[in-house]
Amino acid sequence: MIYLDNNASTKLDAEVAVAMAEAADLFGNPSSVHAEGRMARRRIEEARDEVARLVGASSEEIFFTSGGTESNALALFGAAGQTQVPGRLVRTAAEHPSVAQAMDRLATRGGFESVVVAPRPSGVLDPDELLAAIAADTRLVSVMAANNEYGALYPVADLAPAAHARGALFHTDAVQAAGRIPVDVRAWQVDLASFSAHKMHGPKGVGALYVRRGLPLQAHTPGGGQEKKLRAGTENTAGIVGFGCAARLARERLNGEAASIAARRDRLERGLCERIPGVRVIGAGGSRLPNTSAVLFEGVRGETLIIRLDLEGIAVSTGSACSSGTLLPSPAIRSLGLSLEQAGSVVRFSLSRSTTDSELTRVLEVVPRIVAQARQVGSDGAIETVEELARR
Ligand code: PLP
Repeated sequence: MIYLDNNASTKLDAEVAVAMAEAADLFGNPSSVHAEGRMARRRIEEARDEVARLVGASSEEIFFTSGGTESNALALFGAAGQTQVPGRLVRTAAEHPSVAQAMDRLATRGGFESVVVAPRPSGVLDPDELLAAIAADTRLVSVMAANNEYGALYPVADLAPAAHARGALFHTDAVQAAGRIPVDVRAWQVDLASFSAHKMHGPKGVGALYVRRGLPLQAHTPGGGQEKKLRAGTENTAGIVGFGCAARLARERLNGEAASIAARRDRLERGLCERIPGVRVIGAGGSRLPNTSAVLFEGVRGETLIIRLDLEGIAVSTGSACSSGTLLPSPAIRSLGLSLEQAGSVVRFSLSRSTTDSELTRVLEVVPRIVAQARQVGSDGAIETVEELARR
C-alpha cells in the first residue's frame, strides 16, 4: 500500500512502538504513591518534557488529553467557562469540526456570538480581515496553525499579539503543524494550543493542550484531579509515553525531513499538473505544510478517484466530510469559493517521512490513467456509483 493519507493519521514509528510496549508493563496508577505508581508517573513526566520541548512550552504548561478533539474542546469550553458575560468568539472558516462545532454550541447554548472569517480563495488568510472581526467584547479567537485539508499555514504569531491588544484570548489548533513545521507557542504568544500524537507517528487517542502559565481554564470533567485538576481521569500511561517518544523523534528529525518531504510533494504536484489537463492545486500560492497537497481534478468525483486508487493500492482522501450518511464537500474547502461540484473533486495527498520517490513514480503513472478513465465514464453518460466501484 502506498500510503498518502498522513493528515488523517500516520504510521506508528517503530521506536514509538517499542517505547509503548515497554510502557505497557507500567501498570501502577500514576497517582499512587507506591513504587509502581511512581514509576509510571516518572515516565509520564518525561513524556511531558518531550512534548513541551517540541512546542516551546514549559512542562507544567502541557496537559495530556485523549487527542486533538478533546484539546480543542477543553480550550474553547474551558476559556468560555471562565468568562462572566458571554461575548464574541472568532474563528476561521477553515477550522476543524472540533473547533467549529464547539463554537457553534457555545453560540446556540451559551449565549456567545460566533463570527467566522473565510480565507481568500487562494487559501491565504488576510490578517486584517481576521482582526477586523475582533470587537471589544471578543473573548476568544481560534485560528489553526496549519489547515488539515489543503495545508495552508496561518499567521498565528502575528494574530495572537494583535488579538491580545484587543483584549481577546488566542487559541491555535496546532494538530497538523506540530512535527511538520517548527512550533513555538511562546514565540507565537498564544494562550492555548492543541496537539495530537497520531499526526506525528505517535499513538491514537492521546493529545495535549498547552495552557499558558497562569491562564485560568474551567475543567470539563469532574473527578480525581489528574492533570492539575484540569483533566480528570487516570492517565493513559503507554499512550503518553508513546506521544513523548514521537515528540522527541519529531524534534530531532524536523529540520532534515521537512525539506525532503516538500521536495517530494512538489514533484508530485508538478507531475500531476504536467500529465493531466484540468488540474489545480488548492492553496498553492500561499505558505503551506511541506507534506500536503490538495488537488482539484475538474469533472471527476473525488470519491470515485479515491476508490479507484484504493483498488490500485494507493491510499488518499477527499476534501469531504461524512455528514448524515451523505458525502458533503467540507466547509473548509467550500469556503475558498469553490462550487459544490469543484469542492467534491478535490483529492488530498498527504506525505510523510516514509514516502519514497519510487512510490511517487507509481502514483504519477496511476493517477493520470485513473482520472482519464473516470472522465471517460462520465462523458459516456454512465453513472459509476461509489458502491459499484467498492464492490470490484
Ligand atoms: N484538529 C485538526 C486540524 C485535525 O486535523 C484533527 C484530526 O484530523 C483534529 C483536530 C482532531 O484530532 P484527534 O484525531 O486527535 O482528535
